Amino acid sequence: MPTVALVLAAGRGERLGHALPKGFVPLAGRPLLLHALAAMEAVAEIVRVVPVIPAGALERYREAVAGAGLRKLAEPVVGGKERQDSVRAGLAALPAGTALVAIHDAARPCVRPEAVRRVIAAARADGAALLAAPVRDTIKRVVAGRVVETPPRAECWAAQTPQVFRVELLREALAKAEAEGLLGTDDAQLVEALGVPVRVVPGDADNLKVTDAEDLAQAERWLRRGGGAGA
Ligand code: C5P
Repeated sequence: MPTVALVLAAGRGERLGHALPKGFVPLAGRPLLLHALAAMEAVAEIVRVVPVIPAGALERYREAVAGAGLRKLAEPVVGGKERQDSVRAGLAALPAGTALVAIHDAARPCVRPEAVRRVIAAARADGAALLAAPVRDTIKRVVAGRVVETPPRAECWAAQTPQVFRVELLREALAKAEAEGLLGTDDAQLVEALGVPVRVVPGDADNLKVTDAEDLAQAERWLRRGGGAGA
């Protein structure tokens, strides 16, 4: 089942407080985006890696990947205003015959290729799967400063990426979301809205999402200790 990875790097990353777009911020000696691209490249099941970059960043992107030796890299696609717009742009650029798409946030540079393999295998069997980690804190749903719900902690997981789907299923989910004005913060919730079960594959707690400077420092420590795909 040919699998293609979309690596989303078109966000502004304003909470990082850096002059560069987040994907290009230096992390353990190379632009942040390169870590995710290398992790996807290292997965045998993935035949192509499609980067989704911000408008106006083409030259910077070319400099970032020059000499990185990434053989599966496709031409970059320009993303959109919301994450979902970037996913749609990436989906439109998938090579013909792509059966499964693995959507990964460039902001997760510490993902392990082995975990990517596990979530691909689950999606191959079930059509939709995501990596997630059980939460340690008790989660409160809060509206206007007041708790409206405390879901049982044992049932709460933090969604990570990659999230992997049969391409046709995700296209259908995006079309429905668009028709209904649903804007998701991840892709699985669009598939959930179709009523299709999404399989949860336990991921690693260190597959963190780099949002602020402290996350960047934590990712740097993890990568310097020898984690990551190391392309
Ligand atoms: O900010 P958020 O958590 O939605 O970002 C998750 C990932 O989605 C990041 O890697 C970011 O670059 C990407 N993104 C994107 N296009 C947007 C917004 C976010 O590719 N318009």
